[in-house]
Amino acid sequence: MLDKKKFYINGEWVDPKSNQTIDIINPATEDVCAKISLGNKDDVNEAVRSAKTAFKTWAFSTKEERLAPLEKLYELYKKRWADIAEAITLEMGAPKDFATKLQAGTGAAHIKTFIRYLKEFNFEKPLGEHAKNQRIIYEPKGVCALITPWNWPMNQTCLKVMPAIASGCTMVLKPSEVAPLSAMILAELIHEAKFPKGVFNLVNGDGANTGDALTRHQDINMISFTGSTRAGALISQNAAKDFKRVSLELGGKGANIIFKDADPKAIERGALRCFRNSGQSCNAPTRMLVEKSMYIKAVERVKQFANEMKVGDPNKEGEHIGPVVSEVQYKKIQSLIQKGIDEGATLVAGGIGKPDGIEKGYFVKPTAFADVNNNMEIARTEIFGPVLSIIPFENEEEAIEIANDTDYGLTNYIQTQDKEKANRVARKLRSGMVDVNGAGIAVDAPFGGFKHSGIGREAGKEGLLEFLEVKSVGGWN
Ligand code: NAD
Repeated sequence: MLDKKKFYINGEWVDPKSNQTIDIINPATEDVCAKISLGNKDDVNEAVRSAKTAFKTWAFSTKEERLAPLEKLYELYKKRWADIAEAITLEMGAPKDFATKLQAGTGAAHIKTFIRYLKEFNFEKPLGEHAKNQRIIYEPKGVCALITPWNWPMNQTCLKVMPAIASGCTMVLKPSEVAPLSAMILAELIHEAKFPKGVFNLVNGDGANTGDALTRHQDINMISFTGSTRAGALISQNAAKDFKRVSLELGGKGANIIFKDADPKAIERGALRCFRNSGQSCNAPTRMLVEKSMYIKAVERVKQFANEMKVGDPNKEGEHIGPVVSEVQYKKIQSLIQKGIDEGATLVAGGIGKPDGIEKGYFVKPTAFADVNNNMEIARTEIFGPVLSIIPFENEEEAIEIANDTDYGLTNYIQTQDKEKANRVARKLRSGMVDVNGAGIAVDAPFGGFKHSGIGREAGKEGLLEFLEVKSVGGWN
């Protein structure tokens, strides 16, 4: 069992002031794999004080002073890539290949792209040719609280830490208490890369105590949060009291509109995107909307795909899916599957209970429901498990209406070979991202949502701007 009880504050690993600890559970075996501390107010105060002191100088650091340790960090990350992937498998159950290529891979990609955007970004510029004495200056927002979830731990941590560093902010990271291990490796790498003391600090803990103390703290200037809509609302209330800047990446209930002229692989690609990462992706296409003329065939294909999808040991190589992250999530998913059955949707694959032959671990059967009505709970709630709802539609107008009839607005998907139709529908979907024919959203494209899916954007240039205040100076010489 790993002893991970220390926090990283002011450039060193320190003993926590709190004596409360929690166990980290390996979701594939249900065994305790590590122990972490739950930070209290004193731990939070210490970390914020360190970040506040460091801000005085880091805010005025040059591009070169930020780029040098970031480039070193990228080199170090590549060397520890396998360790990071292994930690992700241990803490949240992503299978080895997926953890290596995608989970750890996205972290590396974000470090690399933020280095590029930092190089290109112009922190000072004149307003324009017409007003040369008007200077626009982009300055760091200040001391940031970065709070991350467990489902894409390194992706989400790097999406916050890298732009915060690049913009000249200092920070306290509180990773998910369910999956903090990969973030702790990142802290080791940040230490090795020799960032100035206090620029980056890490305190572990839960949301209700540590996260709350951090987001209430009067010396925090900005909160960047990824997680549930519930916690996002609570954090916004804390932020409102003293006008902290907030950036929120919350849940989703993406629609995948499959028109009758979709390419031959669209159905299976859609089901895979829903089940991948055991359904634990905020941008998963969990509502498959299918044009009526191909509905029966589509349901048959999803059924076959779900039944053939392998679920198993995340330490093994291969394309299978692993467990879901925790007992809490397992039980929540089971009760939502039951709800779907009770509401009268047709269960075509999967269902209640663990996959055949598996007794231990939080493994869920890839599950598909047909004949789902968009008002059913399985179509409205973010299940965060491998559960797909198939909904028929009559025409383009109805498809758009069903897709937009949700509180969320993160990612929607369109499958058609009619280019004009694809663009027309993309414009009408109320979501921060639209993926057409499996093209994917680029790693540096703005990532974020409309409506209850959040506020602000991460990744690339927009992600960097999120950490910057804009100052206008008139009479610049
Ligand atoms: P969660 O909201 O329970 O926890 C996320 C983080 O917030 C954790 O670090 C937790 O400790 C902290 N937290 C919880 N309550 C808090 C509070 N009151 N104050 C301060 N911090 C608090 O979410 P989760 O269960 O870890 O993650 C799953 C959720 O995250 C899903 O709803 C999913 O859709 C969402 N998510 C969204 C995105 C996105 O980019 N839009 C990405 C990943 C996950």
